[in-house]
Amino acid sequence: MVAEKQSKFKWGMAVDIDACNGCQACVIACQSENNIPINTEDNFKDARGIEWIRVERYWEGEFPNVKAKFIPILCMHCDNAPCEPVCPVYASYHTVEGLNVQIYNRCVGTRYCANGCPYLVRFFNYWEPEWPESFQNHLNPDVTVRSRGIMEKCSMCIQRIRRGTRNAKRDKREVVDGDILPACVQACPTDALVFGNQKDPESRINKMKNDKRAYTLLDHLKTNNNVWYLAKVDPDIEAHHGDKHHGDKHDGEGSHKEDSH
Ligand code: SF4
Repeated sequence: MVAEKQSKFKWGMAVDIDACNGCQACVIACQSENNIPINTEDNFKDARGIEWIRVERYWEGEFPNVKAKFIPILCMHCDNAPCEPVCPVYASYHTVEGLNVQIYNRCVGTRYCANGCPYLVRFFNYWEPEWPESFQNHLNPDVTVRSRGIMEKCSMCIQRIRRGTRNAKRDKREVVDGDILPACVQACPTDALVFGNQKDPESRINKMKNDKRAYTLLDHLKTNNNVWYLAKVDPDIEAHHGDKHHGDKHDGEGSHKEDSH
């Protein structure tokens, strides 16, 4: 914690659920950037798929008045991370910049960390990773390929963070907001994902985490997440609240509109 106070950076992410349309661009960008093997249908059926970020989909209502809602889930980079103290070889640790990272060549594959993580965002390599031959030359040289028996997870694209801070140092300037974009943030077409330095008072992440829509997942567990979510603005719920304010005579107006078609 002392070292964290001394660092100029404390990284974090905000996810605007209202802007997410579930396109999965973040998932593909993450797979590609971080040398994650291609998941097959069988991998998912066997609960062996590896996705450092996944988009969960929820359905609300009854057909035909059904709404799809999406929420991207990634490592929350908890300040109070349950995955860290359970690791017998200190492979899961906290950086001075507030990230929870995994030291691959220290990991002995106990999987205690995955059992400890309440967000199900740690993945074990049950097999050696494989890619089709045509993909072999597309692997990212900045990211270690994880072998069988190793636990892996989102690193907030630490290779990009390192490159961004190095470039700023080389140019003799400070890192400015937006300099560093993890692959998922860069790929998001609706700007639903925002990454930045929480110690920069002017950063977008700071404004978003203080938004009245902001919340963190499983808050009651007190894991002190560094990923914030901005709640969906549901016009039907807003309308419903408005109706309550304006008395019973308007009740149900919003929900009947679609029935009349
Ligand atoms: Fe660890 Fe899970 Fe928290 Fe990430 S979300 S820091 S893997 S406990």
